[in-house]
Amino acid sequence: MNCYDCHLLGTTVPAVAVCRHCGGAVCPEHIKSNADDVMRPEGMGLTTLNEPARRLTCLICHEAEHQT
Ligand SMILES: [Zn+2]
Ligand SMILES: [Zn+2]
Repeated sequence: MNCYDCHLLGTTVPAVAVCRHCGGAVCPEHIKSNADDVMRPEGMGLTTLNEPARRLTCLICHEAEHQT
């Protein structure tokens, strides 16, 4: 599979990851890796675990999720 964003730009670059949000395949130039806090119920509340999970999104979805 090739990077979708590069495809839109008219180039062909092998994809290394898949956006978790839109499912588009993207190359290292077009991927955004974010820490995703993992919450665990503990007692009456939630505890954030020390080791966050990884969350890969394309730049489009990253922007969409972080717009104000
Ligand atoms: Zn790309
Ligand atoms: Zn996406």
